[in-house]
Amino acid sequence: METSGLNPANSEILEIGAVKIDKDNNISTFETLIKNKHKVPSEIFTLCKNLSQKELDKAPKLEEIKDDFLEFIKDKIIICHNKQFEEKFLEFHIGELKNKFLDSMELACVLEPFQREFNLDYLKKQITKDKNDEKHRALSDTIDTIDVVNALILRFKDRLEKEDKLTLYPLTFEMDSYLNKFKLENWEWSDIINNADFSLKEKTKTVFEEEKNQTKKSNLKEEEIYKLLGDNKNHYEELLKEKDIWDSKKGFIYEFRQGQYDLTKLIRETFNTNSANIACIEAPTGIGKSVGYLLPAVLEARYSKKRIIVSTATKELQVQLIDKDLPNVINSLGLSGKVSYGYIKGKNNYICKSKFYEYKKDYDKENPTTNDILSIIIIENLIKEGKYGDIEEISYLLLEHFKELREHIMKVACDVDLCKPKKCGENCLYKKRVEELKDEDITVVNHSLLAKWPYTDEKPMENIIVDEAHNLVEKGYDFFSQEIEYKNFRYFLKEIYPSEFSSSSKYYRDIKDKQKRKIKPIDRFYSEIKLDREVKEKISHNINFIFEKMYDVLDFGINEGYSLITNYDLNWEINLQKDDKVGTLYRDKEYVDITYKPYSQIIKSNFESILSNIKQILVIFDRNIDEDIVDKESEIYKYGKSKIKDLEDIATMLGMFLEDEKGDLVSKIASISSKFDNFILKVVPLNLADLFRENILSALNCGIFVSATLSVDNKMEYFTDTLGINTVENTKKIIEPIYNYKNRVQVIRPTDIGGYKSDDFVLNMSYNIQKYSEISDSNVLSLFTSRKRLEDTYDMLKNNLIDEDINVYMNKKGIKSLKNVDNKNIVLGSKGCFEGVDVPGDGLICVTLDKLPNLQPKDPLYYSIMTKFKKTYFDVNYPQMVIKVKQALGRLLRSKYDYGVFVLFNIGNNTYSNKKLENNLHGCIIKDVNQKNIEENISKHLQKSRREVITGLLIDIIKNKKAQNNNLDFVEYINKEIKNRSIKANVRYYKDTKDKLLVEYYNIKYLVEIDKVCKN
Ligand code: SF4
Repeated sequence: METSGLNPANSEILEIGAVKIDKDNNISTFETLIKNKHKVPSEIFTLCKNLSQKELDKAPKLEEIKDDFLEFIKDKIIICHNKQFEEKFLEFHIGELKNKFLDSMELACVLEPFQREFNLDYLKKQITKDKNDEKHRALSDTIDTIDVVNALILRFKDRLEKEDKLTLYPLTFEMDSYLNKFKLENWEWSDIINNADFSLKEKTKTVFEEEKNQTKKSNLKEEEIYKLLGDNKNHYEELLKEKDIWDSKKGFIYEFRQGQYDLTKLIRETFNTNSANIACIEAPTGIGKSVGYLLPAVLEARYSKKRIIVSTATKELQVQLIDKDLPNVINSLGLSGKVSYGYIKGKNNYICKSKFYEYKKDYDKENPTTNDILSIIIIENLIKEGKYGDIEEISYLLLEHFKELREHIMKVACDVDLCKPKKCGENCLYKKRVEELKDEDITVVNHSLLAKWPYTDEKPMENIIVDEAHNLVEKGYDFFSQEIEYKNFRYFLKEIYPSEFSSSSKYYRDIKDKQKRKIKPIDRFYSEIKLDREVKEKISHNINFIFEKMYDVLDFGINEGYSLITNYDLNWEINLQKDDKVGTLYRDKEYVDITYKPYSQIIKSNFESILSNIKQILVIFDRNIDEDIVDKESEIYKYGKSKIKDLEDIATMLGMFLEDEKGDLVSKIASISSKFDNFILKVVPLNLADLFRENILSALNCGIFVSATLSVDNKMEYFTDTLGINTVENTKKIIEPIYNYKNRVQVIRPTDIGGYKSDDFVLNMSYNIQKYSEISDSNVLSLFTSRKRLEDTYDMLKNNLIDEDINVYMNKKGIKSLKNVDNKNIVLGSKGCFEGVDVPGDGLICVTLDKLPNLQPKDPLYYSIMTKFKKTYFDVNYPQMVIKVKQALGRLLRSKYDYGVFVLFNIGNNTYSNKKLENNLHGCIIKDVNQKNIEENISKHLQKSRREVITGLLIDIIKNKKAQNNNLDFVEYINKEIKNRSIKANVRYYKDTKDKLLVEYYNIKYLVEIDKVCKN
């Protein structure tokens, strides 16, 4: 079914398609368009292939087709993809329909939970042989759904056959018996799966596992490539000049880029030097940074047997490296299968198979729902073969569809202390990855894992390439900090609480404990070490006391009025901030200031008592464990010991938190949530340089730090000083941008929209953002430094855009929409969107920033840095602010054919600092423009840039067509290549002459003489 929107109350059904299969396999179809009563948003016509208003005008009304449809459907079960959507539309518009619905998306979630996405288009391309895009037309989508259902069932049977499971039982026997154990009905899909006609196997479009992993072969062989280097075998950066190597990817026009060559050369030199083995390189966007560092990584691994770790900050880049860049580089160099790679995360990111089977065996929730049990079945299907189990990789949709899944997964995540892969008998993904690490050439990780690197035995940290390295400065403090979070600590206390006293504990009872009737592992530990009742009672008293003191901390905020004066989390340094005001409260007919100090004192005194109680528990354990009589190898003993170790760590951390040493280089931060239902106490070491040197730099043979934004005012000292790199021999290099920023980007400051504190600021900003989307006829990314401003702008835009053909989003999910060049989308984003948004071409040509991303002067971490290192606010704020603004600007120019407008709504009036900012923005002048002139300014810039872009692009494409000697029709080829670069232009022959092309690009139309272009 195709509809005019997502909400049945204000959207209509525009098309219905259905395929009916009766028990004798007779097939009939139903298909109709439905005349719309209200305006259909333009994006629907873009989405639904070949659907037009003209056709809808000719179509019957819904009332006219209803009976035919009901007659066709009769009492059949309706299968559709994402039944929630279709069911609610049919319920609303054709209320007479009372049929049972089955959801093919649910079928996919349960049978193949390892898929990355579950939409019809993705599944079709993954598991059937039909690789065409989903048409978003009713009947063809129905046929796709049938193909997907067939493929899911056949692949399920195929997998079971491989496990030798198909003997006596129907296919879903295990699932249903597990559901029945909890007195739940069989799974709705069971009958259909069990009665499927498997003789159809040969006739379907199903792709089976073994057919899938066929790697693309390189055009050239390894030896041929090696020969290309001639006598200079070591200077492998020269390979970047060999177009044939890199052109192998379909539809990819390779161009030599000096910046990429320089990057590779410097990395090669750093890998092979006896002196400065650390290099910090600013590599601007567009030079092909990833290939620039992966080429040396692959070749050093292959020919010098170096084992390399590549670290990145964002998950997006890790996925891109593993799925795309690494296989492409390896394949292009003819090294498929000769250089191994993979990525690994911290233990707690994996599902533990052994924990899962224990959990499943003991699961005894009183009234579980079907989705509860299906969630457990999903986890089992996910981890069965040991190929999957990375928690982060689990599709967001799966977690959305099965809300219970998240909770079950948390319970079976790998236990950091208990997991010993060498001794474990299960074949889980984590164990597999740890084993592979030993021989792996290139391993991709994230920065936080790199900082702690727990896999030294398997793969020592010798050669690292750190991309997005600027993140190390900001996040570095987190890597080495320790914290206690109230919710986690409460959960931990519950785990070690002796069950026999839990019913008499008022605090324990407060915690929802759905499985309290069970014997907990800790009880088994207490009996293993033979704790008598009295001792256990003492432990429970101590824990009750800790609960009480923790509750008091949160209650204090509520009782003393803190909760009344702030909508935000409270964050402060517990020793440094004297008695700063949180806010003012009207109390007993007068205004009183509420300050941090009383809260600090309550936290300190309560946690001193908590620490003393923890110590008492530790003493109890110490006195009562007789190492001579316990079985130290037993699982339960190890479990108990790991809990004691956790408690010791908590005590150490709390001890540090409560110390009040003036000279220590630590920041002690208390954060209380705005709802006063959680707190975090944090100890952050400030000597990042020392820690970084000790934990990372000292171990290295070679360290490469790369980012598009490492320098501030053309120097890298901020980066190298903060991380202690300045104390070891190092090379610094800033590679010049390949784009002419000054020419391609216009930086604008609207002058008459008021300061960010003024009442009209959000209103004016929203109006401007909308206008930019209209003027540019494209998408806008609006970045915010304040969550509140972002939300207010979203509400305002949403309201203003009700009748417009512009969509507005305010989360990371909206980023995808920027890639759609046929719509107008506005995406509002905060912190996370300053980087990682990579939208080339016409997808993104306007980026706005609400104000300069300055630090809060009272941010506890930076306040500590200022106080303890005697730095000014400018010293601490300026570099990080510049880097963030550079990051924001970097969203605009991603490829050679990019251009755009960067709008800074509020940057203050300090001419000196704005001049400095201009230097950091590659010399782009910040132009003051008033509302009256803004449209003209932007239009002029876009007009000029678009003409340049399309001309350059046509020259490149036509040259390439000649070089490739491609058989495709000339115009067809050009249009395909234009589309590949997300450029919204179209060409055709001018009046049937084959020597001129008519180019249409937004509002530009002009003629190109083909011969002239070719001569260029
Ligand atoms: S290796 Fe670790 S994560 Fe894997 S099943 Fe064993 S204990 Fe669990």
